[in-house]
Order: sequence, then structure tokens, then C-alpha cells
Amino acid sequence: MTAQTDNTLKSIDSEVFNLVRSEESYQRSTIRLIASENYTSRAVLEACGTVFQNKYSEGYPGARFYQGQINCDALERLAIDRAKALFGAEHANVQPYSGSPANLAVYLAFAKPGDTILGLNLSHGGHLTHGSKASVTGKWFNAVHYNLNPDTGLLDYDEIRRLALEHRPKLLIAGHSAYPRQLDFAKFREIADESGAILFVDMAHFAGLVAGGAHANPVPFADVVTTTTHKTLRGPRGAMILCKEVHAKAIDKAVFPGLQGGPHNSTTGGIAVALKEAATPAFKEYAHAVVANAKTLAAELSAKGFKLVSGGTDNHLILIDLTNKGITGKEMAIALEAAGIVLNYNTVPGETRPAFDPSGIRLGTPSVTSRGFGVGEMKRIAEWMDAVASDAKNTDKLASIARDVATLCSGFPVPGID
Ligand SMILES: *Cc1c(COP(=O)(O)O)cnc(C)c1O
Repeated sequence: MTAQTDNTLKSIDSEVFNLVRSEESYQRSTIRLIASENYTSRAVLEACGTVFQNKYSEGYPGARFYQGQINCDALERLAIDRAKALFGAEHANVQPYSGSPANLAVYLAFAKPGDTILGLNLSHGGHLTHGSKASVTGKWFNAVHYNLNPDTGLLDYDEIRRLALEHRPKLLIAGHSAYPRQLDFAKFREIADESGAILFVDMAHFAGLVAGGAHANPVPFADVVTTTTHKTLRGPRGAMILCKEVHAKAIDKAVFPGLQGGPHNSTTGGIAVALKEAATPAFKEYAHAVVANAKTLAAELSAKGFKLVSGGTDNHLILIDLTNKGITGKEMAIALEAAGIVLNYNTVPGETRPAFDPSGIRLGTPSVTSRGFGVGEMKRIAEWMDAVASDAKNTDKLASIARDVATLCSGFPVPGID
């Protein structure tokens, strides 16, 4: 046996190693309020970096195009069974590479190019893949959009119904990336039935809340539900499609061979672990704490004169229109980053500014709740945000807040890192 060689990442590629270390420290010392981000557990990270990276397994468990699938089959079955049990689904496909490909698979399964789809407008909180002109879904389908009511900032179900009956969409899409309220799935079901549409719910953002019982479950109402696995669900970057048994074949065929080749088996492992974690009492507590934190933060920000779209929140995210604060969304997001608080600028309903420098910001509590922040920390975040909004050009002030932020963060261990 020859002398052992050091083949760790650190010795093979110090550049990548150092970037990973640097990102760990960044995620440890900043307050992460990007509503779509989270911290996965050490167990999920471990499951994603295994020899399942070495496998090819086109097809599905028990029906693969390659031999040697004994462990891949068992792993994927585990993830499928856990997904079905957690969400009460008749069928689950855990192979989509991410949320966008999962949504494309739904279109491929149910629609033909030129067909009409109806979803929430991107600038009102919808997702690119819900028919935005910039997305293939807006180029290949006849996308019609519903908006939020400009006065209330809420979904207007009468308007959705009117548009559905007028346009008779093949797919009625419910779901969002930036709507701070829960959805009425029974209402959506009714509208889908009246207009003859397939009801497609994209719960990418709030799947973790559904898993933890802090948000209504769309699965009993929808024909098909897609979700990412890396947002509130706190798993690896990936996606799943849940559907009624009658649609199982169409969905599976659309994912493979319709859109994809071999599944990312190591990711499947991470998804399986995340689903196990999401079925625990601790995760239930987590999901409810995410919403409680968002409500606290919303109330604190409101009290400081921030204008919240829809007046508040009952999920994990908050959308703020900064117009009355005399600062744009992008200016605020950049100043906050300098102060150690990371979030994204966002359009608001009735947006009058360009999408790359809109009037609003979006923030969410999934990440900070994962590291144990509670009421006291929400109050401090609101204070810091208020200070930044009124003094965004004062770089000394921003740097001083960043130091206070890092001090606060040092008291809260980071899942998956510490
Ligand atoms: C995040 C998101 C997606 C897309 O997920 P990716 O993994 O980024 O492709 C799809 N739909 C909604 C509603 C989302 O919020």
C-alpha cells in the first residue's frame, strides 16, 4: 500500500474550498431574509454529497434503462413514499431538477403549444414559469394573468373566475413567489371546475408550511401540485410533483423521457432526508414559528411606517412598498446588504418603476427561524431596517449595524454549519 495521499477538497482545490468556507462564514454572520432561501440540516447536506453522484438511472424504480439500480431504486422509493405520506398525495415524482423544470413537466403533460394558461401576474407575485413573456411558458402558451386587487393587495377570486370563464384556460395556476397571504384552494377548485381547467398549484414557496400544518394543503384540491424542495421545505435544491393517480402516467412521462434524462440520485437522497425531517413534531413547531415570526416582523415594520402589501402577512413572507419612505427597492436592498441584512428588491402590485429597480422589497422568515430567531430578534431587525431606510447613504452607520448584526448572529448556531 502506498502512502496515503491527501485527496480532500482542501488539498485538491483550495480556491473552491476557500469559497465554501467564506460562504459558511457569510451565512453565519448575516441575517438572511430572502424568502426563498433556508438552511438545510447537516444530514441533508451529507446525503447530497455521496456516491449516488456516480449513478445513472434513467426511468423509474423497477423500470430503469440501466442495470445496477438496487440502491437507487430503494432510495427513490423511500423519497416517493415519504412525499406521498407527508402531503397525502396519491402519486409523487421526485425527479425534477428544480422548480422550473417541474412546472414545464406539468405543461408538457397537460397542454399543447398555443393553449391558454391562467396564472398570477409576475409583477403581482407570480413566478416566471406562470406564463411570463420572458419565459418559455409565456412564449409557447397563450398566457393570461390575474392581478391582485390594487386597493386591498389581495387575490380577487371574482376576477379570477371572470377571466377563467372568458378564456377557458387548459391550466388554472395557483401559487406565487411573493404573495403574503394564504390561498383559498376550495375557491380555486370551484373555478377550475366551472371553467373546465386542470387545477395546477405551485406551492414552491410554502410547501414547508403545508408540511408543518401552518398553511392549507392544496393536494386534496388540485389535479397536480409542484414544489421546490429547497425553500420552506428546507431540503436540497430540487423539486417534486404530486398528483392524482389518474395523472401519474402523464406526469412521469413528461418528466422522463419528456424533459429530462437521468435523475440526480444524490439529490433524491437529500430530498428523502428532508421529507423525514419535515414529518417530525419539531418541523411542525418550525413551520408555525416561521409564520409567527413573519407576523411579528410585519407588525413591527408596520408600526414604523413601512407600508406592507395587503397590510400584513399570514405566511412566511412580507412585501413592502417603500414609496412613502423615499427610497427605491434596489437602494434599500443594497444598503441593507452593507448592514448585514440580505433580502431582495421586488415589484409591488401596480408597480410604476422598472423591474430592475422597483418600489418594493420582499423578505421572509424561513432562514432566520431555522437558526432560532424569535420575537426579540424580529424587533431588532425592524429597528435596523428602519435605521437603514432613513440613513441609507451613511456608510459608517451601515457598517456599524453590520457589526451589531454579526454579534447577534454569533449567538445563534447555524443548522448544517455549526
Ligand atoms: C422558486 C419558484 C419556482 C422555481 O424554482 P427553481 O428551483 O428556481 O427553478 C417555481 N415556482 C415558484 C412559485 C417559485 O417560487
